[in-house]
Amino acid sequence: MINILFSAQPARWEEFRPHLHTAFDKAGLDYTLATEFPPEQVDYIVYAPNGPVTDLSPYTNTKAVLSLWAGVESIVDNKTLTQPLCRMVDHGLTEGMVEWVTGHTLRHHLGIDRHILGQTGEWLEGAPPLARERKVCVLGLGALGTACAQQLAALNFDVHGWSRREKSVRGVACHHGDTGLSTSLTDADVIILLLPDTPATANIINAETLGLLATGAVIINPGRGPLIDDDALIQALDHGTLNHATLDVFRIEPLPSEHPFWAHPKVTVTPHIASETRPSSASEVIAENIRRGEAGEPFLHLVDRDAGY
Ligand code: NDP
Repeated sequence: MINILFSAQPARWEEFRPHLHTAFDKAGLDYTLATEFPPEQVDYIVYAPNGPVTDLSPYTNTKAVLSLWAGVESIVDNKTLTQPLCRMVDHGLTEGMVEWVTGHTLRHHLGIDRHILGQTGEWLEGAPPLARERKVCVLGLGALGTACAQQLAALNFDVHGWSRREKSVRGVACHHGDTGLSTSLTDADVIILLLPDTPATANIINAETLGLLATGAVIINPGRGPLIDDDALIQALDHGTLNHATLDVFRIEPLPSEHPFWAHPKVTVTPHIASETRPSSASEVIAENIRRGEAGEPFLHLVDRDAGY
């Protein structure tokens, strides 16, 4: 009998419980699922950092911590975590992110605000350029960045992507390393941030990298707040080098009411809703990882603690 501890916010328990049972039954696991066990009896923890467990040291027999979140920056440095940590890669979460990124990219590409939201009674001439005339740069070619880049490439955008290691994605010009960063950002019209929050990615969008973009470029950030130097971003918006920033994530969340982003006419704030883990599809991923753990097979989506993601 495997003991599976669910440690997340109480509202998530109600949402996830039926889906986890369905997925565990389907995987043929012999298990007990609960929100409390004596720590030394726990085999797996389904985990969110804002749940009740923060000290993982008493979980001496736990075979893996299975994160409900894709971003692991608030767990990866937890000194009490000695067990393997798997992050969430969920096709429902990915689908949601592709829809959000595509929608916000098309908003700026087509100038939707100008023609729909900003109607002035003026006959504004000029059709938007074609997608293939826009360079879109996706920073981060992981589970989410790759899916977004592929969707935008399917719409004919000139898509460039950047990752830490060399990659190949059909329809996407892939770059890596420091020179790859400047190649992918140079003259880009739309920049999409889907990097994790690590020491190596902090402030990757700063005065210098903003200077590489096409004049009037747009930044879309569903990744993490610390990827952007906020002051440099506001300066670029005020000077007109950057046309707009659509931001879903922030250094402090919820975004404080006095933060200049709220009132800035060239900033769209969305409340960290670009996408989220979907209980049905995510439960299948969790079940598969527990099945693998029990069968002695390698876990999926194992976090590299040194790289921080
Ligand atoms: P992955 O770990 O699958 O992908 C991360 C990508 O970033 C990889 O391509 C990786 O390169 C690249 N990367 C990491 N560090 C560097 C670096 N130093 N230089 C260059 N490239 C780097 O993550 P996901 O795609 O699943 O998620 C991305 C982020 O999206 C999450 O970390 C989270 O912060 C955010 N997120 C936001 C949500 C929202 O609602 N706003 C919802 C879910 C996630 P390589 O391929 O070489 O490893």
